[in-house]
Parts: sequence; structure tokens; C-alpha cells
Amino acid sequence: MKINQREIKKREIKKTVYKILQEDEYARANDGYLIMRVVQELEPDLAGTAFVNVMNNLSFKGISCETITRKRRNWKTWEYEEYTVKEQKYAQLIRVQNLKGYVKVAVFFPAWLNKGIKTPRYEIFINVPGHEWITRELKENGTEFCWRGAMVSNLSNVYLGYYWDSQNYPETTYANQDARRTLSRLDCNNNKLSKLRRLKAWQQAALDKKTELKEKKEQEPWDKDMAMVPKEPNSFKEWMRKDTIKEYYIIYEYAKKGQTEGFCTRCQRVVPISHPKHRTSTKCPACKVKALYISKGKQKNLRTEGEGRLIQSIKDGIVIRAYICRWTIATNNINKSNFYIHEYERILIFNDGSSKRYYYGSDRKSVV
Ligand SMILES: [Zn+2]
Repeated sequence: MKINQREIKKREIKKTVYKILQEDEYARANDGYLIMRVVQELEPDLAGTAFVNVMNNLSFKGISCETITRKRRNWKTWEYEEYTVKEQKYAQLIRVQNLKGYVKVAVFFPAWLNKGIKTPRYEIFINVPGHEWITRELKENGTEFCWRGAMVSNLSNVYLGYYWDSQNYPETTYANQDARRTLSRLDCNNNKLSKLRRLKAWQQAALDKKTELKEKKEQEPWDKDMAMVPKEPNSFKEWMRKDTIKEYYIIYEYAKKGQTEGFCTRCQRVVPISHPKHRTSTKCPACKVKALYISKGKQKNLRTEGEGRLIQSIKDGIVIRAYICRWTIATNNINKSNFYIHEYERILIFNDGSSKRYYYGSDRKSVV
């Protein structure tokens, strides 16, 4: 019974000391003052009496000065952190350990700490020289939940606040000086960042580096293969225009008595016609292509397209190159026409039976 009461008193002292330290900066530096404040809180009757009387009666009341000062020394470590997080000043608290060959960052959240759970929600293991990390997520009972490869900013409940200009935004992570120092050694492009913001920047830099290497690796065979492909023949574009287009036209100007000449878009000649009707089929008398009559007055713009392939020899094989073309024609001014050609695929087939296929995407090249 007596022990229990002493335990209760101890806990009461601890709680009171932390409360005072949290509220009163002066108490953090002055033990005598701290003791007086504790006495005022716990034994207000005694606090009003002479100092000698206070000191003489403290042990009788179950309060030891040593207990109070010891609590003050402990306060700066774990309990301080917990207290601060409880005050919602920080979104999370971290503890950093330098282990053999890697750094471990444990991330704690106020919600769990307030429930008395002292296991971290996340443990981020960082291989600094290897530019790698892995995160272990834990359950409330401390057992392993799963492993994640995500960046720290993408872990749920982690809040880093505004990232780009850390100086103007309040820090959202609590970390002690050792932890800050360890994380500040992580190389990134902004040395002003600290704690988890620093870790995020370091992770981003590692990812960028990985992407860069991957692209370079993809680019290398591409460059090598493309260097083997010869130039297009000079006549190729003209061949595409003349032989791959879906629709050719004979463009004419309406005449009351019937127009007698028109312009063939394929052979680019003025050709004789008789009694043309807008958008009916005909045949160019010059180049013999199947064409549509188009009256300038009825249609100002025409748009057509085509698709063609070019096969060339390369070292130890052939390349099949695929093209599309688009042709827009202003019927009133043939000179304004625009003929556009685009290569979208190359298939390299080698004598040994192997092949490679490359695409020209809209933004980047890919190989399959
Ligand atoms: Zn023609």
C-alpha cells in the first residue's frame, strides 16, 4: 500500500515537472525555482511557509529534490519529444540511429504517442553510399506490417509542410540535434533543408540519378542502331506525295457554261476537264490517277493523308522504316499547301534472325 502511494506520488511529480518545464522556460535552467514551482503545484499549503520549513517537510510529503532534478534531466530526451508532439507543434517526431553501414530513421506520430504507443510507425533504412532506402511500416503493437519503397513524403501521415522554401515555413518534424546532424550529411541540391525535408530531397536526387542512368542505358543501343540507318533517297518524299495519298483532287473554278480546265493535285498540272461536279469521281487525263472534283467556291480547305514504308540495307540486315504523311491544301492558293511527313517506326532485321523495333513517340523514343 505504502509502495503504491509512493509510485503514485512519483508519477504525479513527473507529470508536474514536465508540465512546468513545458510552460516555463526559466524552470528549465534553475533547479531551485523548479522545486519551488513543483511544491506550489503539489503542496500549495506548504509553499506558503518559510523555505526551511518547506525543505524540512518535503521528504515527509514524499517529494525528493533529487527526483525533481532527475526528471528535469530526463525531460530533454524522450519525454520532451513526446510532450512537444502532443502539443501538436509537429506533425511527426523522428529518431535517427547510425547503424553499421546505414542510417535508420524512426518516425513517430502524435496519435500513437498519445495512446501510449512508443513504437515508431515507420523505420526508414538508408544506405547512403548506395543511394537506396527501404521503409518498414509497423503496426500499433510493434509487429511488422509491410515494406515500402516510397519516398518519405509519400508515406501516409507524414507531413513535411511546404517544401521549396523551408525558411519561411514552420518545421513539421521534431528531431534532436544528433538526428539533424546525421541527416544534414545527406547530399542534396539544397543545403538549407533539414530533417525529413532533407531526406526527401536526397531521395529525389537518388531517383533522378537512377532515371538518368536508365535513360542513358536505353539511349545507347538506340544511338548505335540508328547510326547504321542510311539517309532517305532524295526522291522519297515526292514518292510519298505521289503514291501513298488516299485522295487526290482536281480543283476547278465554277463556270456557268461549264469549266474546261482544272488542277490535278497529284501531277500538279492544269488538265482539261468537262462538266465537273463537286465531289464526284473522275480520272486525271494526264497522270491517270483516280481523283475527286473539288470546286474552289464550295471547299476552301482539303486535308488528306497517306502511309508508306521504306526498306534499306544496313550492316548484316535490313531496316523497314514506316512513315505517315499529311497534306493540307488551300484550294484558292495551291502554294499555301502543306505536305508533312513523319517517320514513326523502324524495324531492324538482322541476318541472324534477330530484330529490333523502335518507335518515335510524340515526346520520347522507345524500343521494344
Ligand atoms: Zn494528274
